[in-house]
Amino acid sequence: MTDYEAIVIGSGAGGLSSALSLSRKGFSVLLLEAMPSFGGYLNPFSRNSYKFDTGLHYLGELNKGQRFWLLLDSLGIADKVEFIELDPDGFDRYIFGDFEYRLCKGKERFREGLLKAFPKEERGIAKFLKVSEKMVKAMGASTSTQGGVLGMMGFLLKHPVMLKYSRVPYQKLLDEVTSDKGLQSVLSANWGTYGLPPTRASVIIAMGVLNHYLSGAHYPRGGSGAFRDAFLNALWSHGADTKNNSRVVRIDKIGSEFSVETKSGETYTARTVISGVDPVYTLGRMVNSKIVPPKIRKKVKLLRPSIGAFYAFIGTDLDLPSMGITDANVHYYDDFDSNRIYDSITASRLPEKFAGYFITSPSVKDPKGGHAPRNHHTVEILTFLGYGPFEKWAGSPSMKRGEEYESLKKTVGQRLVKAAEKFIPNLSEHMTYVEYATPLSNEYWVNAVRGGCYGPEQTPDQVGPGRFTTFTAGIEGLFLVGAGTLGGGIMPCVASGVLVGEKVAKLLTAKS
Ligand SMILES: Cc1cc2nc3c(=O)[nH]c(=O)nc-3n(C[C@H](O)[C@H](O)[C@H](O)COP(=O)(O)OP(=O)(O)OC[C@H]3O[C@@H](n4cnc5c(N)ncnc54)[C@H](O)[C@@H]3O)c2cc1C
Repeated sequence: MTDYEAIVIGSGAGGLSSALSLSRKGFSVLLLEAMPSFGGYLNPFSRNSYKFDTGLHYLGELNKGQRFWLLLDSLGIADKVEFIELDPDGFDRYIFGDFEYRLCKGKERFREGLLKAFPKEERGIAKFLKVSEKMVKAMGASTSTQGGVLGMMGFLLKHPVMLKYSRVPYQKLLDEVTSDKGLQSVLSANWGTYGLPPTRASVIIAMGVLNHYLSGAHYPRGGSGAFRDAFLNALWSHGADTKNNSRVVRIDKIGSEFSVETKSGETYTARTVISGVDPVYTLGRMVNSKIVPPKIRKKVKLLRPSIGAFYAFIGTDLDLPSMGITDANVHYYDDFDSNRIYDSITASRLPEKFAGYFITSPSVKDPKGGHAPRNHHTVEILTFLGYGPFEKWAGSPSMKRGEEYESLKKTVGQRLVKAAEKFIPNLSEHMTYVEYATPLSNEYWVNAVRGGCYGPEQTPDQVGPGRFTTFTAGIEGLFLVGAGTLGGGIMPCVASGVLVGEKVAKLLTAKS
């Protein structure tokens, strides 16, 4: 008799969703989290009366009946969080030097906006939207596709758009529809939300993310912590056990029983294990290597992580709305050349000047959410940054990396804030609180491989079969969820949890 029917490792969006899905069905569940707080990238932090999000700025498909809403509804929490709709007339501001394009809610308005901004590109726009529609249909069908070669062939024959685009970078599609660099840039302007410029990003991810937000954008009242708490409260009410400060160091299987051991020496047994930890760590370090099929060992060895980020978390006494900072996210790029900008900000040498960054203000998006004291605001500025410049401090504990690291972080942070003063003049003189974070922070707080923001890098070869989209790794009873499966982003991670919850429930029921 095992301690639990399922042990879930890691309390990110994928782990929380799978644990909730199973505990709602009446299975006994233990959720183990390495850190003191739950949530992974949903875990916020508070400093001096300011509250900051780490990995949630906006979510799509949350109107009643839309895909993300349906997923949350299936978990019984769609009505446990209030989602604030961000400006439907422009929740994303894409700014390239002096040119600005605002992304509005709705596909028809997207088409109209593109035609207005690029009147000569009618044919290219029409072609792009046609491919986009076919892709969305194919992506919807992919979750119910039968596994194996035959299943995959049947799927590709039914959806030739996937055959054509699933293995090529997004740039190929952009080049096919237009040679206008401005239009290409607008069609890929939210590449920050998947962390790769068009020459490297998977078409599936780029199209998936674009369509996710075209349905409109929302932000949870109270921030990512309120969203995370909806999962936790539901888990507790369904009787799941949750343990923080419980870093799993080993997963083994003897007969049909799994054992899961934590760093502090506790061991739990279960009939099934679900890991929401990156596959590189789960299958490359945590699972007894003798039970990992050689093909899988090879696959995880070759997986490349996504890019890390550098953050400035700022509290300010500036009246941001009066300065033009609205609930819209600002995606800033010096010019239309996203590929060059990505290379410049992620080069091994730290950039002197940031050619691209993202600005968002949780307190402006959600004035009643307790993000900042009265008459103050929070603002978060982000840019991508490689792991290399910080690698020599890898493995050292957060806040204790010494003066050299702190000074480097401050230099980079000040450069980023200076750059963002283009939108928030005098910000550096009005920071009532500031904290900078590097890819090492992601690595420390979330156990993200090399501080990556989105799990394995979302290139064509690491999306679909190159990831763990079947949620399995050749070990019966062991499942994967989170960014290493369907892709980075909160909705795909929640979807992975819901789908795995169903698979595990079937397995447990069949074997009982
Ligand atoms: C800066 C940034 C901004 C983002 N903005 C958005 C956004 O606006 N919208 C959106 O949809 N997505 C956004 N994302 C992406 C999204 O946050 C992530 O893809 C998603 O939350 C990842 O969920 P996950 O299930 O993979 O788990 P993770 O969040 O990666 O969590 C994994 C958990 O496992 C725990 N863990 C690791 N190892 C162990 C172990 N050995 N034992 C026990 N526990 C362990 C970790 O501590 C962590 O809690 C953003 C990401 C970043 C970095």
